[in-house]
Amino acid sequence: MDCLFCAIIKGEIPSGKIYEDEYCYCFKDINPQAKVHALVVPKVHITSVDAIDEQSSVIISKIFEAIPKIARLLSLKDGYRVVSNIGDHGCQSVKHLHFHILGGERLSDKMA
Ligand code: 5GP
Ligand code: ZN
Repeated sequence: MDCLFCAIIKGEIPSGKIYEDEYCYCFKDINPQAKVHALVVPKVHITSVDAIDEQSSVIISKIFEAIPKIARLLSLKDGYRVVSNIGDHGCQSVKHLHFHILGGERLSDKMA
């Protein structure tokens, strides 16, 4: 399977690592859309939020335990936004589930 984020997780493609644990890998977005823009991905390939099931939701809960730790590492003390794009209408460009962590400044109040 040809997946950009699987290649990043394996270290085949370099990335700006921020955090890693047994379940997830977090790295800097190559094209930041806020002063701080990180991506957190499960180490196993899951296509999107839409593919989460009873089995994989355990991994998702681990990712959501990691997000506050990542936010502390990134000094996002005044808040941040977590976003996941899904499918064509959601403008998902990489088909490996990822959560954007955006912050470091006051974000737009427009969500779409
Ligand atoms: P999506 O549009 O699928 O929600 O988000 C994909 C994100 O991956 C985009 O914000 C894009 O900038 C980022 N991205 C795409 N290719 C690379 C890459 O090779 N390295 C890194 N670090 N980020 C990437
Ligand atoms: Zn993948």
